[in-house]
Amino acid sequence: MSNYSLPTLPYKYDALEPHLSGELLELHHSKHHAAYVKGANETLDKLTEARESKEFDHIGQLEKSLAFNISGHVLHSILWKNMSPNGGGTPSGSLAKAIDRHFGSFDAFKAQLTSAAAAIQGSGWGALSWEPLGKRLVVEQVFDHQGNVGNGTLPILVVDMWEHAYYLQYQNRKNEWLEAFWDLVEWTDVAARFDKVRKTDIGL
Ligand code: FE
Repeated sequence: MSNYSLPTLPYKYDALEPHLSGELLELHHSKHHAAYVKGANETLDKLTEARESKEFDHIGQLEKSLAFNISGHVLHSILWKNMSPNGGGTPSGSLAKAIDRHFGSFDAFKAQLTSAAAAIQGSGWGALSWEPLGKRLVVEQVFDHQGNVGNGTLPILVVDMWEHAYYLQYQNRKNEWLEAFWDLVEWTDVAARFDKVRKTDIGL
């Protein structure tokens, strides 16, 4: 039973050039993201088999694989929509006000997210997320796809800091990838996500 499928990109593979090469984006979407979708579906199948056979010897590995692959699918699905050929600049409206309220200023927020993303050891992501209990925006430094995040937080802006996200074009110059990313951010998408997630009521 396949639950997850690879979303189509909202633009062509070369649409984000020169910030992101078509070759890199095609590999990233059609190979890497596709692998997480496949991994999530296969892991769900294996968990079904484990329950049916009552054979839970590999349950730890399967649960980790489930978190890794579903989170990889979620984060990449957000990332594609967070970027556009007409991106860049700064947010406006309620998102801009919330960023000012929770981080002091847009520049202070940008510096925190850029630093958190650049400082990841190994593979991971930088994220701007909504924390529904405190009803506030937070920056998260995500390990792999699923580690080091608060339970219940909802990412609305994510930047992929795995080497597959930039190395083909930027080699070890991850700061250049981050500069390019800020020029691609589609703030109307981030703002629309913000308006949805801030209505989340977790009943606490
Ligand atoms: Fe990636």
